[in-house]
Amino acid sequence: MFEAGLSKHARVKEVIRKGEWCWPQASCDVVELQQRVRSIPISTAPDSIHWDKVGEVFSTASAFHGIRQRFLSVDWHDIVWHSSRIPKHAFSLWLALRGAHRTKDKLLAIGVVHSADCAFLCGETETLQHLFFQCPFSSMVWREVLLMCNIVRPLLSWADEVLWMSTHARGSAFHHNVRRLAFAATVYHLWIERNRRCFKNVFLPYQEIIRLVKQDVSGKLASGKSYPSCERYHSLCVNWGVPFGEVN
Ligand SMILES: [Zn+2]
Repeated sequence: MFEAGLSKHARVKEVIRKGEWCWPQASCDVVELQQRVRSIPISTAPDSIHWDKVGEVFSTASAFHGIRQRFLSVDWHDIVWHSSRIPKHAFSLWLALRGAHRTKDKLLAIGVVHSADCAFLCGETETLQHLFFQCPFSSMVWREVLLMCNIVRPLLSWADEVLWMSTHARGSAFHHNVRRLAFAATVYHLWIERNRRCFKNVFLPYQEIIRLVKQDVSGKLASGKSYPSCERYHSLCVNWGVPFGEVN
């Protein structure tokens, strides 16, 4: 720019004369720049700043969407990122679905721990599938939570539980919302209990984990705009301690 005779504070208007681009000929340094702006029409309108398209304002969201790669939605999207989610539960469930929890089998493989024994003292190896919900401790919690959701079925493998929830808990109906919240709350509180045992040497019984799940889910349901009045949801409201048929 210096060799072209332009100061470092030069403005665009200095290379425009009588409505046309007028670049200094002294230097080849600006040739590339000259070629790149050739197709930009010169306007006498006041300057304005746009993002991507004329008239579009900048936002961090539009910048993020501009640089990220888009993929098709995963099947489990709606059971994690629904509008009434509890953020810390959703994040924990998302980690589990991405296989991102640092379970002991992974830590043992890289030499961080010397034993991969399950923190729930069942004698098995701690893996993601074991924690959710093959472990006897976890399965007692999840079975009870499913019963509170009025669901009676055998427990499934982690992948099949996710698949089941993705197809039976994705709608806007009250009972689907309860299932989604209960699923995420169970994953969250089991992981917290695992950490409590590993790092604080404090052991809660499984009934206490169920109580914590119920407390979070019913708290969230009770904060909704209105309670269900449909008779089919009456027992669900009783199970979770949510008022039935009242308007907030
Ligand atoms: Zn176990």
